[in-house]
Amino acid sequence: MAQRVLIIGASVGGATAAVTLRGLGIETVLIERELVKAKPCGGAVPPAVFHEFDLPTSLIDRKVRHCLVVSPSGQETRIEVAGTVPSDDDYVAMVRREVFDAYLRQRARERGAELVHAQLTGLTVGPRGVTATYRPATGGAERTITADAVIGADGAYSPTAKFLGLPNLPRAVAIQERIALPASQMARWEATADLYLGAEVSPDLYAWAFPKRDHIAVGIGAGPGHTARARELLGNLKARLGPALDGGRLLLREAHALPMEPRKRMAFDRALLVGDAAGLVVHTSGEGIYWAMKSGELAAQTLARHLDAPSARNLRAYEREWWKRYGTMYGFLRWLQWWGYGNERQMEVFTEMCRNRDVQRLTFDSYMHKRMAPAPWGAQLRMTRDIAVAQLRNYLRPRTPLREQGRFATA
Ligand SMILES: Cc1cc2nc3c(=O)[nH]c(=O)nc-3n(C[C@H](O)[C@H](O)[C@H](O)COP(=O)(O)OP(=O)(O)OC[C@H]3O[C@@H](n4cnc5c(N)ncnc54)[C@H](O)[C@@H]3O)c2cc1C
Repeated sequence: MAQRVLIIGASVGGATAAVTLRGLGIETVLIERELVKAKPCGGAVPPAVFHEFDLPTSLIDRKVRHCLVVSPSGQETRIEVAGTVPSDDDYVAMVRREVFDAYLRQRARERGAELVHAQLTGLTVGPRGVTATYRPATGGAERTITADAVIGADGAYSPTAKFLGLPNLPRAVAIQERIALPASQMARWEATADLYLGAEVSPDLYAWAFPKRDHIAVGIGAGPGHTARARELLGNLKARLGPALDGGRLLLREAHALPMEPRKRMAFDRALLVGDAAGLVVHTSGEGIYWAMKSGELAAQTLARHLDAPSARNLRAYEREWWKRYGTMYGFLRWLQWWGYGNERQMEVFTEMCRNRDVQRLTFDSYMHKRMAPAPWGAQLRMTRDIAVAQLRNYLRPRTPLREQGRFATA
């Protein structure tokens, strides 16, 4: 019998793993329970996604070329989206997940992957292979499928991880509303995305307004200690946006968990975890699409090399390669979240630092092009000086948050 890989979850990570496996001639079956509703998501994607995964830019709703960062006290920093070497490719792509994911899935099918519309209900790993049970979406009895190995690309609640006996990861919650605005109001977000900081909108992450073709997505992230307040925080964000939402019509409210930590292990006997199932969201931005696709690709390549002997020992080449490539970046972004969003004074310092040209270039280079080159000495010295000055200024003369200025009413 031909070697076969089973992938649980046909979203960005799973569909990318499937295309990679099919490119290497391996029989691939995807099991996905939800083919209609979109994955709740802000849909901000770096241009690197389109180059590295050969995707058409027609999937992009808008190219954001400016960002507005607003601190708890209302201090505003406007940033042009530009890397160290400015180019036409300097933008943040805004996509709708229903469009983006559908394209990736369809491409996986065209390349020969089989897509089964069903919910995974059980998974066992034995010395000769994996056996999964699933309930077809069309109803009827549970069915069984066997394969040589499995890739768990099934998101923050990963059933694959559960069936492998792994613990849950600490999770944040992100909630957003999609709001259709009159054309005159939409013009405000033509090519701009906004980030809002403050304890009343996002105590430890950030809140956003991201423009799509015909609406904006307004949302907040809330870390593990604050998830029960997610709706209240979203209400506060809308109050903060105030007149900018006038005439808006709610299209959809959606929420989902985000893993807050990478798993210690992502490779096991005959099994690999990718994307949110492996906890590969980066902390500062909550960005997970690129990382799910990249880990899907790397896991599939590693698996293809070891499909004759898919032991944990062999498959751990995936983990080693991942952390060799991206360990520094994850470590830095984790520190940045702690430093920049730790409390409201730090959020003020963070907003001020976003004005620093060297910080902007480094941030956008690492976000847009996934390059993290060390900054030249001159830039490092300037950044260190500016951080020290911003820290002093905001601690010696703290600013008053907008909510205490009576600029809007909290929920
Ligand atoms: C509100 C919100 C906003 C976000 N904004 C951004 C953003 O702007 N940019 C960004 O890069 N990232 C963002 N993220 C993170 C991003 O959405 C995820 O990191 C990304 O979708 C992870 O992809 P994935 O393929 O690993 O998992 P998912 O996209 O979560 O896909 C998992 C798939 O597995 C399927 N599945 C689960 N259980 C089963 C089962 N039992 N049987 C069959 N199938 C199953 C699900 O239906 C789903 O399709 C956001 C997240 C949230 C919640």
